Amino acid sequence: MKSVTKKWIEAGYILQNDPKAIVLCPECGVGSLIVKDEPIISSNNRIDRYLICNNCGKWNVITMQLPSDETNE
Ligand SMILES: [Zn+2]
Repeated sequence: MKSVTKKWIEAGYILQNDPKAIVLCPECGVGSLIVKDEPIISSNNRIDRYLICNNCGKWNVITMQLPSDETNE
């Protein structure tokens, strides 16, 4: 596995648990990753969480499950 891929996986793991964590971009190592959540229309309790570098613009997305007790409105 390429080390960049491994770094993305680690970044995804950190930001899945703590979206406010500061994680350096796996690609350029200069910028930090910004988190942007997009709800998945067909699923009420899953979201796509985009990790976007504020320096080079590279991004990755993880699909994650929201805690079910926060989805009732
Ligand atoms: Zn970058």
